[in-house]
Amino acid sequence: MTLRQTRVEPYHRTSMPSRKRAATTSSGRKNGAPFPRKKIPVSVLGGTGTVGQRFVQLLEGHPWFEIVDILASDQSAGKPYAEAIGSRWKLTTRIPADVAKLRVRAPGDELQGRVLFSALDASVAGELEHEYASRGHLVSSNARNHRMDPNVPLAIPEVNRDHMKLLEVQPYKNGGGLVTNPNCSTIVIAMSLAPLHRAFGVEAVIVTTFQAASGAGYPGVPSLDILGNVVPYIPGGEEGKIESETQKILGRIGPKGIVHAEFQVSALCHRVPVVDGHLNAISLRLQTRTTRKRILDAWEGFRPLQKLGLPSAPDQPIEARSEEDRPQPRLDADRAGGMGVTVGRLRPCPVLEWKYEALGHNTIRGAAGAAILNAEILVRDGRI
Ligand code: NAP
Repeated sequence: MTLRQTRVEPYHRTSMPSRKRAATTSSGRKNGAPFPRKKIPVSVLGGTGTVGQRFVQLLEGHPWFEIVDILASDQSAGKPYAEAIGSRWKLTTRIPADVAKLRVRAPGDELQGRVLFSALDASVAGELEHEYASRGHLVSSNARNHRMDPNVPLAIPEVNRDHMKLLEVQPYKNGGGLVTNPNCSTIVIAMSLAPLHRAFGVEAVIVTTFQAASGAGYPGVPSLDILGNVVPYIPGGEEGKIESETQKILGRIGPKGIVHAEFQVSALCHRVPVVDGHLNAISLRLQTRTTRKRILDAWEGFRPLQKLGLPSAPDQPIEARSEEDRPQPRLDADRAGGMGVTVGRLRPCPVLEWKYEALGHNTIRGAAGAAILNAEILVRDGRI
């Protein structure tokens, strides 16, 4: 296995178009968006894990957010972050100096962050996230625990920004709230389906996933189980998560909450010896007959956040590759700083109607980057 790491440049050093720097106008607004004059303090829950490290990396130099606290388990608590994480730091960029010296907080400690980005293990995320939301923090979580709660947005800003309205019916006071992002495969699948559902109506989906090893956290799947192998099982109810989360994400807001999309999804999940990047092979039937060109146009034209000036929003959320052997994890997962979904191999399906491949970076678009983008849209919409 060739080890490969995403090169994600901190905001203050980058010139990547997907990592737009905020240009402050005289009114203090960026492209019409409310640009925070002072950085918003944020905390990272589970900051020592695989996704937690991505948060630390992606938030370095972020124009709107600044890490003030890291929280992890009792085994890490009390130590400076760099010491607590030790040799577990697995990214090619260095631990940012200001974060390296932060003393890791214990579960339940007071936190200074207005926004808490959660990469907590699912065994503790449910209660801790609820506890911190009750204390007036806005929690933006990667964990599965609250994703399907009826009053919690399962949000992808490009797809269902209006679901953030659910924050208004949550029981939390003093600015507290809970927002989640989807499972790391679901987000790629749902993004690729969203423009097709809007234009033609999705009727049925079968998806086979090829999920990278980093999706299992660290140390994850034992090397002797995954090297030179494919494991046709991902624990934690992965297939069910993809099936139900997709229906919630592509559902619509009704008077009593989210009305889930009615089409059925069948998922078959596999762990593969790839470091980063989940590939999904998708077959689908649409309600309206259409052409290949119209499907490609729907993906190409899907740019709902383009003018909002969000630092983490890619200019082109979905890119269709024309080569017959793309997308591939090693070549395409890093597109748009890991925030882009890449599709390809669109062709007729003799059983359903169409089939294609969709790929995304599991710890960026599928986790930390997704939670940061959720917080950015909340700032833009005046909810933070
Ligand atoms: P991970 O590498 O195992 O990290 C888990 C984190 O949770 C660590 O910071 C750990 O702290 C902390 N933790 C564990 N037990 C704790 C406790 N009792 N109290 C407080 N903190 C505790 O896992 P991961 O892959 O980063 O995943 C984190 C979350 O994101 C999970 O809910 C996962 O399902 C979800 N997610 C992961 C991915 C992915 O691609 N990996 C994608 C989407 C969503 P210590 O270091 O101190 O033990």
